Amino acid sequence: MNILIAASEAAPFVKTGGLAYVAGSLQKEFKKIKGIEACLMLPLYHGIREKFGLKDTGIEVAVPLGNRQVAGRIWLYGSSVYFIECGEFFDREEPYGTHKGDYPDNAARFVFFNRAVLEACMALKITPDVIHCNDWQAGLIPLYLKTIYRTDFFKKTAVVFTIHNIVYQGLFNADEFALTGLGREWFNPEGIEFHGKINFLKAGLIAADIVTTVSSTYKKEILTAGSGRGLEGVLNRLPSGLHDVINGIDTEYWDPETDTFIPANYSVAAMSGKAACKKSLIDECSLGSGNKNAPVIAMIGRLSEQKGLEILFDALDGIISLGAKLIMLGKGDEQFHAYIRKAAEKHKGNVFFDIGYNEQLSRRIYAGSDIFLMPSKYEPCGLGQLIAMRYGTIPVARETGGLADTITDYEPLSGHGTGFLFKEHSASSLRESVRSALCVYAYKKSWQKLVSNAMQMDFSWKGPARKYLGLYGRAVQKNAVEP
Ligand code: ADP
Repeated sequence: MNILIAASEAAPFVKTGGLAYVAGSLQKEFKKIKGIEACLMLPLYHGIREKFGLKDTGIEVAVPLGNRQVAGRIWLYGSSVYFIECGEFFDREEPYGTHKGDYPDNAARFVFFNRAVLEACMALKITPDVIHCNDWQAGLIPLYLKTIYRTDFFKKTAVVFTIHNIVYQGLFNADEFALTGLGREWFNPEGIEFHGKINFLKAGLIAADIVTTVSSTYKKEILTAGSGRGLEGVLNRLPSGLHDVINGIDTEYWDPETDTFIPANYSVAAMSGKAACKKSLIDECSLGSGNKNAPVIAMIGRLSEQKGLEILFDALDGIISLGAKLIMLGKGDEQFHAYIRKAAEKHKGNVFFDIGYNEQLSRRIYAGSDIFLMPSKYEPCGLGQLIAMRYGTIPVARETGGLADTITDYEPLSGHGTGFLFKEHSASSLRESVRSALCVYAYKKSWQKLVSNAMQMDFSWKGPARKYLGLYGRAVQKNAVEP
């Protein structure tokens, strides 16, 4: 089976969050499976060509965009990662926007990318059995395959669309519709119109053969009003239903036993390295004053409303008063940067904050902390908790979406569980959950058992990749019946 994964970001090339790790590691997993060819297509953002030594294929595509044609050039990494170059749209530091907001030409940029993927397939003579499109940035591809690109070339190409986060829908003003080249009949409520705007994500939902999302609980959530962000009706009417495939992590890449970026390696059978990682992290973050055995709590992620920062800020004084140290690494909304800076100043010696995207530091934090916080308002899957558990760092998380599906609440009597879950999205519930975790932390044996449970969980891509292959097969069958 020939698979093409179309995404706007993929590790290790460009990362702003979970989607990048999913796209990158899923392709890597497919490459291990006999009979599966999997390639990846991405926009060529600033600096990637030089950093990764891409090869020029010499192939150009001319992409219709409104009433003009925009040229793209195809570059290659290894034998299966294709990049679409277009200086006008992608030679920028950030994929979607700056801290001031989204780029104003995102509609044009991603219409270009969606059509360029299909043009590139034709130019490179790649005929995928399945194109796996991810999030709104690749949402038009399914609809193009059913309309403008419904050609002999793509006759056998089925399409699977995955929602990684339904909040980001790619909404644009109606006057940009002409950029898409789609017939006007698609700009209505049955098509891709959404309250007077164009909705790229909706295009993926209505036109893909199979639609999936990234955890079973998130699936249930987005089928309901509120969590479905206005698309619950469309999701409930999908002819093949909404499917779920939980995300995995690349367990070779995220492995405390071999990670070369952490000060000491360790495994579930030989844990002393974790204590060394903690000591080193405390020094690095200047948190060494006071109790040497104080528990270290960490949070890594996009600083957005989704991640539950408001309740964390409200609970912060209480958490620190429980005797814990807090380390935060993140980048996002300015308002949160300012607040965290202030909190770090107020709790100097107990709170450390680093603004930015820094994977190497994130590894030292995953390895050196005791507890990992994810107080998310909603969380489609979440990768942070998976990596944290792999590094023996116990999640304290809100029971929502993929957090509910991947963390088992600790059961003190049996010692069963891998973390601490709380239901209500409130500062008091968060603080209470941290308090429960700290009570167990105080009993070394119980904590060790909990750490060992978490580290032994299998969060690899093996199972999820097989599940995707099953769904790809169904998409191919569906496309054969109704191309
Ligand atoms: P989302 O996709 O909503 O941003 P996920 O939990 O699914 O959240 O994935 C986030 C991933 O990005 C995690 O692997 C996390 O380690 C990484 N990450 C997020 N922010 C940062 C950062 N500032 N520095 C390093 N890694 C980060």
